[in-house]
Amino acid sequence: MKPATAPPAGVPFFTQAKSFDARWPEIARHLHDVFDRGKFSHGRKVEELEQAIAGYTGARFAVAVNNGTDALTLLLRAAGIGPGDEVVVPAFTFVASASSVALARARPTFADIDPDTYGIDPASAEAAITPRTAGIMPVHLFTQMCDMEGVLQVAARHGITVLEDSAEAIGMRWDGRHAGLLGAGGVLSFFPTKTLGAIGDAGMIITDDPGIADRAGTLRHHGRIGRTIDHIAGISNLSGASGTNSKMDDLQAAVLLAKLPHLDDDIATRARLAEAYTARLTGVPGVRKTPRVVTRPVPTDSVFYVYLIEVDRRDDLVAHLTARGIGTEVYYPIPLHTQPVFAELGYRQGRFPHAEAACRHAVGLPFHPDLSIDDVDRVCDAVREFYTGSAA
Ligand SMILES: *Cc1c(COP(=O)(O)O)cnc(C)c1O
Repeated sequence: MKPATAPPAGVPFFTQAKSFDARWPEIARHLHDVFDRGKFSHGRKVEELEQAIAGYTGARFAVAVNNGTDALTLLLRAAGIGPGDEVVVPAFTFVASASSVALARARPTFADIDPDTYGIDPASAEAAITPRTAGIMPVHLFTQMCDMEGVLQVAARHGITVLEDSAEAIGMRWDGRHAGLLGAGGVLSFFPTKTLGAIGDAGMIITDDPGIADRAGTLRHHGRIGRTIDHIAGISNLSGASGTNSKMDDLQAAVLLAKLPHLDDDIATRARLAEAYTARLTGVPGVRKTPRVVTRPVPTDSVFYVYLIEVDRRDDLVAHLTARGIGTEVYYPIPLHTQPVFAELGYRQGRFPHAEAACRHAVGLPFHPDLSIDDVDRVCDAVREFYTGSAA
């Protein structure tokens, strides 16, 4: 039997089709430059993007690489982190925050999060410090920076380096300073779903430290010094610290250059959409938590990269939404201290209760600047229907 009316349209978790249509002339202009020049990797567009990102963030140096994970790994290596060192990482984050430490041949150790910001809890981080701890990696997730005052105090007390996983944090600022620039350096990811997304993988290191910028710039290109001269730098290649190939494609840089002038508008749109979600979801039974931006003693800029809520019966809600064509993303399903890849570090379930609770209850709803208020209504109606049996 045919239904009397077509089923309501679904809502994808992420799309940027409308933005691409609207901005196509600018994107095409930058892409044409790349095709005209015929340099498709590590070329002039990449340099232009480095300058533009340095301008946007206020960083003295921006070093383009192939993706955010490489950016983290090369940042750690350029900061001198390596074999024998430990780096404290929150247990609730994307795997790359900790795998980058392992890729730099150091050892991640874990700390719990502050359940409001989902960022590292400075007290828990301090408790994880040992004589081998060389660094701490605060990760700014979803909406806001973690307690950087607390992190910087812990780092200063123990004389350790702060390396920010600011992969999600473009546009976030702490007392006027862009995320990634409060310690030795940070990173940006331009993975397509990120706030400033490419059409494939791309990433960047941002830092005010000329030594870190110099070493990262060399490591990303086989240890070559500069862009053209064929000298291989001696960051002790024979001890396994060779350079790698992590150059950025000029096509990615072209798309990012076309999108960057619209970033602040996109961020404002995201804030309005988040507000619309929160207004509709507040008080819905089963929705335990909508995002709360924490007020700090200094001014901060938050950015809604992901709209994340915490709910009861999370996996059943996800199935309910999926059946209605509504996309979701579980950030993050398993805390890093219980991920099989880190089993040899010896952590047990129960060690970091806030990280573990977030893994059980958190879910990201469809979220991107192309979303309409109608889409938000559809998603929120479906959430309400799941918990109350009625959309109204
Ligand atoms: C996206 C992301 C990364 C890695 O970036 P890629 O470009 O996907 O390699 C690292 N850390 C966090 C917190 C991220 O969200």
